[in-house]
Amino acid sequence: MKVHAIQTGAVRIKLAQMDAPRPGAFGIFGVLADANWSGWQPTYAWAIEHNDGVIVVDTGQATYLLEEVRRSWHPFLRNCAQFDIAPEQEVGPQLRALGISQGDVKQVVLTHMHIDHDAGLQHFPKSLVRASRGEVAGARGFMGMLRGHLPKRWPSWFDPEPLDLTDGAYGPFSASRRLTKDGSVVAVATPGHTPNHLSVIVESGDVSIFLAGDTSYSERLTLEGKIDGISVNAGVTARTLANVRQFASERPVVYLPTHDPDAGERLKRLQIVPLYAGKGSYAA
Ligand SMILES: [Zn+2]
Repeated sequence: MKVHAIQTGAVRIKLAQMDAPRPGAFGIFGVLADANWSGWQPTYAWAIEHNDGVIVVDTGQATYLLEEVRRSWHPFLRNCAQFDIAPEQEVGPQLRALGISQGDVKQVVLTHMHIDHDAGLQHFPKSLVRASRGEVAGARGFMGMLRGHLPKRWPSWFDPEPLDLTDGAYGPFSASRRLTKDGSVVAVATPGHTPNHLSVIVESGDVSIFLAGDTSYSERLTLEGKIDGISVNAGVTARTLANVRQFASERPVVYLPTHDPDAGERLKRLQIVPLYAGKGSYAA
């Protein structure tokens, strides 16, 4: 089973959001008050070539974000995120370059509804789009706009199937849902960054490829147990990061956050999280 890393441009955020000196201490206000930017980070979408059809996980950035952020009335959008993306870097053209057509993509699964994860939805009018019920509810309407979502930019056909995690625990994760008949692609609950955030695990040979969304911004931050600056409940996030570390200590896991600068390279080398007894690069 082939997994493709598709970089849809780059983003930079405030350091207090990504790598807070006192994690979670001031929440969203600490992020707004911070004058320091992170470096530019990639924004990945993922395509899984499975026998049931291609599954795309997150849809990445789109060029409309450049304009939306520049003109936004929203203090967080206007002051706390900067995007870099060209039209050919959107997920649609990149999938075509890989030989994957619109009709090949059977499912699009969203880890959460932040604008750098759902902006590419317009490229999937023929696919089943699935997202957590709670995430979609929180992103809709006026309250969604107050939270920094851009529901007005969702395609007119956007009507996601609620992805309820009804298949019970999966390893240390309390809830899960199979996304394929053979159970080799599974959504698991990874709340914290947002209340109903989910991740997608691809069981490929002996390796679990963990498409983490914004569970954390990098593997390092997960290993250090650092809470990002916008998690509402630090305890929930800490528990999720502990679950990821437990999972990665019990089996070979390639851990791939959306914005980790090394995620593309780790996928190419199938480099596992250095918590597993085998350690180091699985391919080596
Ligand atoms: Zn996010």
